[in-house]
Amino acid sequence: MGQDKNYIQWIRSKVGHDKIILTFAGGCIFNDKGEVLLQRRGDSNLWGFPRGAVELGETPQMAAIREIKEETGLDVEVGRAIGVYSDLDITYASGDRAQSIVIAFELKQVGGELCCDFTETMELRYFSKEEKPKLFTKSHEDLWNEIFPESGLQNNVRELQGANMDIDLTSENIGWNQVSCPWNEAENTTVHKCAVKNISICKYFCGVKYLDSVLCSYPHGNKDE
Ligand code: SF4
Repeated sequence: MGQDKNYIQWIRSKVGHDKIILTFAGGCIFNDKGEVLLQRRGDSNLWGFPRGAVELGETPQMAAIREIKEETGLDVEVGRAIGVYSDLDITYASGDRAQSIVIAFELKQVGGELCCDFTETMELRYFSKEEKPKLFTKSHEDLWNEIFPESGLQNNVRELQGANMDIDLTSENIGWNQVSCPWNEAENTTVHKCAVKNISICKYFCGVKYLDSVLCSYPHGNKDE
């Protein structure tokens, strides 16, 4: 295999799954409501910004245009660079390991139509800043927080005491103080649960601290707002 055909495959043919440094280019496409396009990835089923590896002979701008076309079906113009991000240790489903350098641009749609290949891209959707899903890796999270700083997790995570991953936050007759779920409060319901058997982890669930506190990023009903 020539190194100019598919750079990652060529390197992988030499090093196997060993950790290598890879450069990616992609970025943010906004619609007229200010929502940003995310891709549900085929490798992890998680959401992320569309992007891909820079090939030999390509500038990051050229790679961004090619990758966006391949992964979303859209033709884009490349605007300013938003930032450079990195994941120090990614392990892909294939077992391949990498350290990434990610160059993210503002991208403007100039043609094409949204289209999934159902291999790399399972779904494409525009998200508002209030709808943030769990993203694939830290570099995706960092980019989201760059473009929507007021909704970034670091600004919005609440620590809700008296709960853990196995119980919901609305149980009655428990023997300790338990803070109620802000999403349930906002909707006057009891349906939303952090994590219980047979129910998926809530998209606002950010983890557990000291075994008995839930880290919750629900964007409304935050008493500190
Ligand atoms: S993580 Fe979800 S279910 Fe849990 S408290 Fe927050 S909004 Fe409610």
